[in-house]
Amino acid sequence: MNIIFVSNKMAKAKTLSVLQTSLLIGALILVPVLLTLLFLTPPSNIKEQGMKALLPPQLKSTIINSQVHLDAYAKELGELQARMMRLDAQSQRLAKLAGEKDKQAPNTAKKPIVSVPLDGRGGPLVLASPMTELDLQKAIAELTDAVDARDESLSTIEAKILQQSVLKEMLPNGSPVAVAYNSSSYGWRIDPFTGGKAFHEGLDFPANMGTPIRAAADGIVSFAEHTPDYGNIVKIEHGSGLQTRYAHASKLLVHAGDRVVKGQEVAEIGSTGRSTGPHLHYEIRLNGESLDPRKYLGN
Ligand SMILES: [Zn+2]
Repeated sequence: MNIIFVSNKMAKAKTLSVLQTSLLIGALILVPVLLTLLFLTPPSNIKEQGMKALLPPQLKSTIINSQVHLDAYAKELGELQARMMRLDAQSQRLAKLAGEKDKQAPNTAKKPIVSVPLDGRGGPLVLASPMTELDLQKAIAELTDAVDARDESLSTIEAKILQQSVLKEMLPNGSPVAVAYNSSSYGWRIDPFTGGKAFHEGLDFPANMGTPIRAAADGIVSFAEHTPDYGNIVKIEHGSGLQTRYAHASKLLVHAGDRVVKGQEVAEIGSTGRSTGPHLHYEIRLNGESLDPRKYLGN
């Protein structure tokens, strides 16, 4: 069978071969069938499998990876937020300590933590290349370091103010145990039990079981008991909201209500409660908030 097209303009007949004709007819039949299949496929089928089912496997794994990365960034941002909240609380404490005359807290918003290169000639900022995942990771790490540095400097300022304040005579400044402390133990660190980052509010002194734990200043014992997390713990009140805590002890040598003097043995080193080995977990608190013990030791 031959189909003959006649073009008016050229007045010249064009013939299609059998092969061309069958291709044309095939296409005329196939196109509506394909269109019908595309539009009439029950939508429930798509819904059941989800949009991801329609994607090629390579794109699917990219989407899953992106989700994993987004989750990781969300977690890191959450941690940054927690750090900022601590800084805010610390700034407020400092403002209180500084008194009425100088109520202005250190303004963390004054200086941009992440500096954006500004074009002096004006106009929109056009980055040479879009921000890569590596850039993002670097920015988060830099921001975390900057926040940590501020935390450290605020703790130093706080200690200086306290050492010049009316509280200076009561500050617990004795060493609670005659061994070196783990200097990286205070502050943000990986929790050995949960694996997540958490603020560790005490200073750890790894020492042999039974080593004497001594009161860092004169005071009155307010608590000497076993708790699930701190294990055997002694809390001593030094007045004006200052408190020291000595945790994970193997043995308690004092009772609530006892008056103790600086250097007096109050407990023995142990590994009770949430502890991975024999050590003293030592805390200094002011009105319930933890201070950096490193700033008050050795005076
Ligand atoms: Zn600890």
